[in-house]
Amino acid sequence: MLTAIGDVMRRVYERGWITTRDGNISMRKREGKFLYITPSGWRKTIVHPEHVVRIEIVRESSTGEQTLKIREGQHPSGELWMHWNLQQVGRKTRTVVHVHSTHIVAAIYAGIDLQAISAEFPEISRYTRVGPTVSALPALSRELADATAECLGLGKDGALAFDIVGQANHGVCAVATDPWSAYEHIERLDHICEIVLKSGLGRSAHLARSLAA
Ligand SMILES: [Zn+2]
Repeated sequence: MLTAIGDVMRRVYERGWITTRDGNISMRKREGKFLYITPSGWRKTIVHPEHVVRIEIVRESSTGEQTLKIREGQHPSGELWMHWNLQQVGRKTRTVVHVHSTHIVAAIYAGIDLQAISAEFPEISRYTRVGPTVSALPALSRELADATAECLGLGKDGALAFDIVGQANHGVCAVATDPWSAYEHIERLDHICEIVLKSGLGRSAHLARSLAA
């Protein structure tokens, strides 16, 4: 699965969903002792298993709380908090992907409600649960990380109510077992956003329909 991290990075770059150094992916195996995450600043088109940062997860014996032990010389993604919020419980193997998928960001910018359009397209509603959009918050901030976890509906047991959320003026965060499944959530949502944007209706159609309802 570490190979898939680099493969997905190359694919999202080819699709124009990131510029060379953007985007990040983390992975944790079920009850795993390590968090694997893409490196900070590195060109994402050349991520291979040996470049993925392996951070040790330490469990405090008194509280049972898990913390990350970042060694000197390790440079994990600047969005580490966004990933760690979602990876902390670790009951299941999980991959978290954050990219700047063009049509999703454009749709949010145009004022389109991602949950509302998702409900109208079976292509997405059958396979991907879309959560409420995260408001515009600074990249790399704790606020963005916490709001992303909240919008994904993170429960105390680590379960999520949704598979993907958009992040206003920024990107998306998708969660699945493996990198390619997370990629598919992004691809489905990006595709319907592209369709809605190309229809030229987008927000106005929505407003009209909801007013009529
Ligand atoms: Zn970003």
